Amino acid sequence: MSGVNNDKSDYLRRLSSVNDLIQAVYRSRKGGLKGIPRELVAEASRAVIQGIRQAILEARDELSLKEIKTSAEELAPMVEEEVEKRLSPSLRRVINATGVVVHTNLGRSLLADTAVEAVRNVASHYTNLEFEVDEGRRGSRQMHVRQLLCQLTGAESALVVNNNAAAVLLALTAHAQGKEVIVSRGELIEIGGSFRLPDIMAQSGARLVEVGTTNKTYVEDYRKAITENTVMILKAHTSNYRIVGFTAQASVEDLSALATEHGLILMEDLGSGTYVDLSEQGLPWEPTVESSLKGGADLVTFSGDKLLGGPQAGIVLGKAELVEKMARHPLARAVRIDKLSLAALEATLRIYLDPLAALERIPTLRMLTQDLQKLRERAENLATLIRKTAPTLLVEVVQDVSRAGGGSLPQADIPTWTVTLQSQNRGAEWLEERLRKYHIPIVTRVKNDRVIIDVRTLLEDESSIIAEALGKITSSVQGE
Ligand SMILES: *Cc1c(COP(=O)(O)O)cnc(C)c1O
Repeated sequence: MSGVNNDKSDYLRRLSSVNDLIQAVYRSRKGGLKGIPRELVAEASRAVIQGIRQAILEARDELSLKEIKTSAEELAPMVEEEVEKRLSPSLRRVINATGVVVHTNLGRSLLADTAVEAVRNVASHYTNLEFEVDEGRRGSRQMHVRQLLCQLTGAESALVVNNNAAAVLLALTAHAQGKEVIVSRGELIEIGGSFRLPDIMAQSGARLVEVGTTNKTYVEDYRKAITENTVMILKAHTSNYRIVGFTAQASVEDLSALATEHGLILMEDLGSGTYVDLSEQGLPWEPTVESSLKGGADLVTFSGDKLLGGPQAGIVLGKAELVEKMARHPLARAVRIDKLSLAALEATLRIYLDPLAALERIPTLRMLTQDLQKLRERAENLATLIRKTAPTLLVEVVQDVSRAGGGSLPQADIPTWTVTLQSQNRGAEWLEERLRKYHIPIVTRVKNDRVIIDVRTLLEDESSIIAEALGKITSSVQGE
């Protein structure tokens, strides 16, 4: 034991100083670390030395000590790696092989090409963001999408904000602060842990009046709860769960009649807000924005980056007078949409002027409505590639189900084709981790000790990236 400790002080003595290490880094590269700030190299060198010191102190025996490098020359490449890491972006591309299309953790929707182009253009130039070019005077950023939204949905007026949570908060604050809002107990939703309807309600200063039971709420339950302090009935789409079995929900039509009778606002938080009827594409029926408005909702809110397939945004549609009051509220400024999202949203909405084109050009819709036979071909092509690059893996093409994700089409099993991978001497968790830690992280799921790659969410060039990654991963463990 004391032998190891003696060795440890020996190793610590031999450990390069930060200064020597910096010198070595500059020596090891012709022309030094061009354009890389000296402070960054110093910082990285300190971190590397600190890491080595720690490793020496924690070494259990001579064998693990022996593996520790201490000289400046040996440590220089580690510093370069550390510098590289600090210079590269934290937010970066990953490959979504999970089949979950609107994957919240992976950024929800991908933008259509024209939306990307619009962002690029608006980001790098001055724009007429709040400037009416014809009149030569100040305008509203809302003007770029208001008419388009009204035209597409038949709404009287429209307002876009930062996200749907903000849209709901703004609507409740502007219309129901200090007043009562009636919500069914079956619709007190929590989305992703951060959006809880009761919390948003409390934040807005509106008082939540719960009616009905978890599985059943009738129009009569709402009627009985109306007092002189009631201003709104809120219907929330249960977008990430379904209450199944013995259930009853009041329809928008019935609630609209009740609201009109009592002079109340009927608001519907649609959550995913689909514009096209996806049931025509063989997917489960979701209320469309249009059906909610036609059904009599006075205000409708939904996300820009769920089934709409655009950027993060919250869209409010409805009666002009109600929407205007929200636009004028001081909170509107705090939750306003930024110009890049606005550009992407406008471009996405323009695609919907031709709904059939939308199914092709909007990635979220394209992925969701992909032809099963096509998916099978893609899975088989991917399997063929993998068998070539990683011949030691057990590769199969298997039918499975995908999920829409992101609080849309809850629990809907969408048939898909996957490629399943099994390593002969390593577990699926090991392979899943190696793929996830690849320089372009590849996110998969594990089922029955197999890594599952769902081709539904893969982009054009990603099959070859995955095959190459698997080749590298499996060849690096050969001979172990
Ligand atoms: C997703 C969702 C929200 C939150 O929308 P964000 O755009 O994520 O802020 C609110 N309500 C419902 C019903 C939702 O599904």
